[in-house]
Amino acid sequence: MDIFCKIVNGEIPSYKVYEDDVCLAFLDINPVTIGHTVLICKEHYSDVVDANPEVSMHMFDVAKKLANRAINKLNAKGVNILTNCKEAAGQTVPHFHIHIIPRYDETDGYNPIFTAKENVDFEAVLKEFKED
Ligand code: AMP
Repeated sequence: MDIFCKIVNGEIPSYKVYEDDVCLAFLDINPVTIGHTVLICKEHYSDVVDANPEVSMHMFDVAKKLANRAINKLNAKGVNILTNCKEAAGQTVPHFHIHIIPRYDETDGYNPIFTAKENVDFEAVLKEFKED
């Protein structure tokens, strides 16, 4: 059983900020900013692509509500909402979850850096990637 299933079952405590029949949100134990929250599904799915679409849609709706709460109650100036999907993407807990990361300013602790690739053959990528 993974650590998030244990939180759902009440075997491990958490700083709960939201709960309904489908999902549960709690403060991340290693917060990158103040109010960094993890929203998890109660039923076990390993990641967003594994999750039942009704569950994931509901969870993104809840993530939006938590983002608004961070803006209204924590005075966040913005919010990053993200989900890491599989180990190669940085997922460390194999249980679908969405990070809600309130943002305050450029020194708030979270530094997502996008480094653009150079000389990309967009036509070749599109050929492989587009819908058949
Ligand atoms: P990820 O790297 O996307 O799988 O994120 C997993 C997140 O869960 C990390 O940010 C961890 O700090 C967080 N985490 C792991 N265990 C706990 C826990 N017991 N309570 C709260 N957050 C946790």
